[in-house]
Amino acid sequence: MKIICIGRNYVQHAKEMNAEVPSEPLFFLKPDTALLKENQFYYPNFTSDLHYEVELVLKITKHGKHIALEHAHHYFEKVGLGIDFTARDIQSICKAKGLPWEKAKAFDHSAILSQKFIDLSQFEDTIEFSLEKNGTMVQKGSTRHLLFSFEELISYISQFITLKAGDLIYTGTPEGVGPVQRGDQLKGYIGDQQMFKIDIR
Ligand code: MG
Repeated sequence: MKIICIGRNYVQHAKEMNAEVPSEPLFFLKPDTALLKENQFYYPNFTSDLHYEVELVLKITKHGKHIALEHAHHYFEKVGLGIDFTARDIQSICKAKGLPWEKAKAFDHSAILSQKFIDLSQFEDTIEFSLEKNGTMVQKGSTRHLLFSFEELISYISQFITLKAGDLIYTGTPEGVGPVQRGDQLKGYIGDQQMFKIDIR
C-alpha cells in the first residue's frame, strides 16, 4: 500500500503558501508507516511548527496504469477524510534548498485517516468537509474548488506510478492550514458527519 498526496490543489491554499498555482498536479508519497491507526498523535520532537492539512482521501479499488480520464471514475468508490501533517519549519528549509520534502511530510503518523469511508453515491454533486481545532472551525473545503478533479488526479498519477487496490490518495488541502500544540484536539467532518477525532499528546 502506498500513500500519494497532492500538493496545492486548492488555489486559495497555494496563495496562502505564497506558492505558484500548478499547471499540472503536484504529488509526493508517504510510506505506509506514516498511517496513524489510533486516536492519539504524539507531537514529534524534530519540529516546533507542526501544521494540520485536512484533506479528502480516496481509496483505490483496482490495479491500473495509464488510466484514461474517462475511465478514472472506475478506480475509486468511496471517500474518507485525513490530515496530511506537515513539519512546516522543516518543509520551509527543504523548499529553500530545493530538497525533497520527505522529512517534513513522510514521518511516522503524519497521515491521519478516518476509519470510515463514505460511498460517493451518497453525494449529489460536491463534497463539503471541515476541520475543527478545540471546537473552533479552522478549515472548510469543498470539491467545487478543486483545481484538479479526482479523475484528473488518478489519470495523471497513473501515467507515472501504477495504482493498486488499497492505495490512498490525499487530494490536497484547502486554505486555513495552521499549527497544533500538545493538548489540542482535532475533529474532521465530511458534511456534518464526524470522521475522526485526534488528541495531540
Ligand atoms: Mg497536503
